[in-house]
Amino acid sequence: MTQLPETTKRLYRADGTPRPVGVIGYPVSHSRSPQFQNAAFEYYNLPHRYEKWEVAPEDLAAFLLEMKNQDFLGLNVTIPHKESVLDHLETGTPEVGDVGAANTLFLHEDQYMAGHNTDVGGFLQVLKEEGCEVAGIRAMVLGAGGAARAIIYALAKAGAIEISIANRTIERAAELCDVFAEQFPNCHIFPLPFDSAGWPPNRNPRNLIVNTTSFGLKPEDKDKPFPFTAWQLSGHHPDRMTYFFDLVYGDTPFLKQARSEKAQHMIDGTSMLVYQGALSFELWTGLPAPREVMLAAVQAPQ
Ligand code: NAP
Repeated sequence: MTQLPETTKRLYRADGTPRPVGVIGYPVSHSRSPQFQNAAFEYYNLPHRYEKWEVAPEDLAAFLLEMKNQDFLGLNVTIPHKESVLDHLETGTPEVGDVGAANTLFLHEDQYMAGHNTDVGGFLQVLKEEGCEVAGIRAMVLGAGGAARAIIYALAKAGAIEISIANRTIERAAELCDVFAEQFPNCHIFPLPFDSAGWPPNRNPRNLIVNTTSFGLKPEDKDKPFPFTAWQLSGHHPDRMTYFFDLVYGDTPFLKQARSEKAQHMIDGTSMLVYQGALSFELWTGLPAPREVMLAAVQAPQ
C-alpha cells in the first residue's frame, strides 16, 4: 500500500449522478449511519442514498471490486472488516498505515481503492468538546480490536503519557502494545488481563477510560452488569476527575456502572459516530458536514 498525498483527498465529482455509498459490516443491521448520512446528503440536495450492506468476510474482495467497477462514492467499514480491509487497499492516508485499520474507503482519482481512518479525528473532536484535555493524561482502553487501534493511536498522538490496554484475549492487547510502543516511545503503553484480580496496584489514578469492546452492543447484553466497577477502572473515587467513554451507543452497562458510582463525565458512542461519519462525508463530497443536522437525525426516533 502506498501513501496517499494529502492533496488528493477531496475528489467529489458533482455531475448529479447517484453513486453507491454506504456501510459494510457483518452484521450491519444495527448501524445508524444511514440515518445521519442521508440527512447530510438531503441537506445538500445530493442524489446519493447511503445504504447498509452485509458482507461476509469471504465476500469482501468481490464486493469491493464490484464497488470499484460501479465508481462508488464512499464506504464506511465496521465490524469485522476494519483491519482485514487493508489487504484490499491500493493506497491510503498516513493514519491508515499508522493505525492499522480503516473505517472509510473512497476511490482515488487514479481509480485506486483508497482508505482513511476517521475514528481517530472523530474521537478526538468529541473529547475536545467534552473538555477532556488529552495531553499528559493516563488512560485505560478496554478492548483490542479495530476501534481500539484508532483510540490508542489518537490518545498517544495527542500526548497521553500512559495507556493500559485490557482485553479478553490478552495476546491481542500485547500485540497492540508492541505496535504502538514503538511508534510512541514517550507514552507508557502496556497490556492488562481482562480480570481486575490480575491488575497491579494503581498508584496513579486514570483520567480517561474508553470501552472499545463490543460488550453492551447486543440487545441481550444491555441488562448484564459490566465486568468492572468504575472504581477499579479509574483507580480512585470515580466522581472526581475521570471521563468514562463508551464507543457503544446509548445507556450501556459500562455507563450505567459509572453512573451508579457517581461518575461526573460520561460519554456514549453517539457523538463519535456522527463526528467520524461527518469526517467521512467531507472526504467523499468535499463539502463541510452539517454536524447539527446529522446529530439531530441520529437522535430522532425511528
Ligand atoms: P472488533 O475489532 O470486533 O473488536 C471487538 C473487541 O471487543 C475485541 O477486543 C473483543 O475481545 C472485545 N469483546 C467482544 N465481546 C466481548 C465481551 N463479551 N466481553 C469482553 N470483550 C469483548 O470490533 P471494533 O471494530 O473494535 O468495534 C468495537 C466496538 O466499538 C463495537 O461495539 C462498535 O460498534 C464500536 N464502535 C463505535 C464507534 C463510534 O463511532 N461510536 C466507532 C468504532 C467502533 P477479544 O479480542 O478477546 O475477542
